[in-house]
Amino acid sequence: MVDLIPSSDTVMQILKRTGAFREGHFVYPNGKHSPHYFQMPLAFRYYDTARVLAVGLSRKFRVDRDISSQLPKVSIISPSSGGIPVAFGVRDALSAEQIYWAEQEDNKRRFRQYINRGEVNPSIMVDDIIRSGLAIEETATLVKELGSAVIGCGAIVRFTSAPDKLGDVPIRSLVEFDAHMYDSGDDCADCKKSVPIENVRF
Ligand SMILES: [Zn+2]
Repeated sequence: MVDLIPSSDTVMQILKRTGAFREGHFVYPNGKHSPHYFQMPLAFRYYDTARVLAVGLSRKFRVDRDISSQLPKVSIISPSSGGIPVAFGVRDALSAEQIYWAEQEDNKRRFRQYINRGEVNPSIMVDDIIRSGLAIEETATLVKELGSAVIGCGAIVRFTSAPDKLGDVPIRSLVEFDAHMYDSGDDCADCKKSVPIENVRF
């Protein structure tokens, strides 16, 4: 069972091969500069790699007795569109009963209309990447408002600068990535070398 959890190196190789992990000189919309960028859906465009990643992450939940004892009456929840393929893959691997995803609408994160309080099973929140943790925190609030509890949380990649817990729940990931971020171009190593920049959308 544990064999199905790919190592951090194996996952990084998959992310590089599929173009999901990119090296260069990137500028984020918030003005931060970085020599790395993750465009995770590129790894999820291939069925085989999507499956390896989602099944790997699902095993991290399966080994938790608190979680496995509640299956299949569990919901898998994605805080963002990038997490939707992760959620479907994890749901499939765990045979969980429900799946939900939040979306940004008018700058506000919300679930689709007509999901009622009391309908949402105990929840495992999954995303493709956790950079700041804000998306999962906002979604956890929505989950609680619907009367459900978050019993698990994880992502394919978690930046080590992000929280490693959501309340009492540990955040599990296949890769813990130490991202290099510069607040502006002033202290960016690539700017000093006049490397051309690539703007990324989010
Ligand atoms: Zn720069």
